[in-house]
Amino acid sequence: MLHNLMEDVVINLLDDVLQRHPEVCRCEQCRLDIAAVALNRLAPRYVVTSKGEVYSRTNVLIQQWKVDVITAIAQGMMVVAQNPRHSWPPEPVLVGDNGIKP
Ligand SMILES: [Zn+2]
Repeated sequence: MLHNLMEDVVINLLDDVLQRHPEVCRCEQCRLDIAAVALNRLAPRYVVTSKGEVYSRTNVLIQQWKVDVITAIAQGMMVVAQNPRHSWPPEPVLVGDNGIKP
C-alpha cells in the first residue's frame, strides 16, 4: 500500500490545534477541509506499507514536522473559516444558566 505519512501527522496534530481554537468548527466536513488545505501546502512523504501495518515512527515525525504542519493547519483553518461549507454556528447549542452544557 502507498501511504502518505504527512497525512498521519496532519490528522494527529489537527485535534491539538482545534482544541486551541474553539471558534473553529470541528465537524467532519470542516476537519477534512482543513486537513486537505494543510496537506496541499505540505510536501507528501510517501512510504510503502503492508496492509494494516502501523507506522511506529509517527510520533517522531510529529515532533520533526510539527512547526510546518501546525502552520499549514492554521492556514487551512483560515481558508475554511472564510469559505464555510455550511452556516455557522451549524446548530443551536443548548447551554445551561451557568454557561455549561447540561
Ligand atoms: Zn463544520
